[in-house]
Amino acid sequence: KVLLTAACVAFLAVKWNAPRFDAESLRGARVLVTGASTGIGEQMAYHYARFGAQVVITARREKVLQKVAEKCLSLGAQKALYIAADMASESDPDKAVDFALEQLGGLDYLVLNHIGPSPFTMWDGDVEHTRWLMKVNFLSYAQMAWRALASLEQSKGALVVVSSLLGKLPSPFVAPYTSTKFALNGFFGALHHELAMKKSNVSISICTLGLIDTQSAMEKVRGVTNVPAYPAADAALNIIMTGATRQPELFYPWFTHIMTLSKDWFPSITDYIVQNSYNYIP
Ligand code: NDP
Repeated sequence: KVLLTAACVAFLAVKWNAPRFDAESLRGARVLVTGASTGIGEQMAYHYARFGAQVVITARREKVLQKVAEKCLSLGAQKALYIAADMASESDPDKAVDFALEQLGGLDYLVLNHIGPSPFTMWDGDVEHTRWLMKVNFLSYAQMAWRALASLEQSKGALVVVSSLLGKLPSPFVAPYTSTKFALNGFFGALHHELAMKKSNVSISICTLGLIDTQSAMEKVRGVTNVPAYPAADAALNIIMTGATRQPELFYPWFTHIMTLSKDWFPSITDYIVQNSYNYIP
């Protein structure tokens, strides 16, 4: 009880001290959002558009991106451009960053959000899928971050990485996905230290999300779990605010922070909760 109260007090203190978000700071900001054809990425594109940013969006499906870009313009984006890219390819991650740098004349925000589709099932030994998913969900993030770093350094920009509670707390049925998110947290956690030690201008925000009500997520977990799903538009706004205020971490919804802490403090209880969050009969 004492530990839980201390955690809540610490959490409230952090929230209280968080810098205020100034929406005006995003007017004209040059932003690249990945995985923006659907889900949280699409919602982020619309928020940036409402704030008057210049947006480049990317994903694989060109026709869908075109529609999202048109909607961004109607919502108030100063620019809305798109480029189709497959993040499993060796060259497309660089191609997407180069396109944004050329079209916008630099970048203020690189928002890495895309994920490849992955089954929601017990591990069946499919190493090939895991290898592919690592390329899409992890290696392309490292590649794009490196490609954009010089420009972000110049603009005192921000690198925003969309991760998951499953990058902090392993969970059944998603072993390959969980692995890619742990890799992201490790890599960008290290980069965060290195940039701070180099006194770099670039901030890194790592966003830990719980279950969000995107179509792809809900299709997987419907009828399988009673874990509450939070709205994609609200998650997207919180991610944007975290990047704009240069906060190193976001926990959305708030209890993902408690879950992250509790796995080390109360491992058996956490295991029990995790294993009993799903309807599964052996
Ligand atoms: P979606 O599945 O809705 O969107 C994924 C996006 O990635 C789409 O735009 C898709 O577009 C794109 N994409 C898929 N494969 C590739 C590829 N090979 N190359 C380039 N782009 C690709 O995901 P969510 O919105 O649900 O999730 C967004 C982020 O939030 C992810 O990082 C996820 O891990 C994180 N998150 C989500 C949670 C949730 O419950 N929804 C929970 C915790 C974290 P296209 O098919 O056109 O390529």
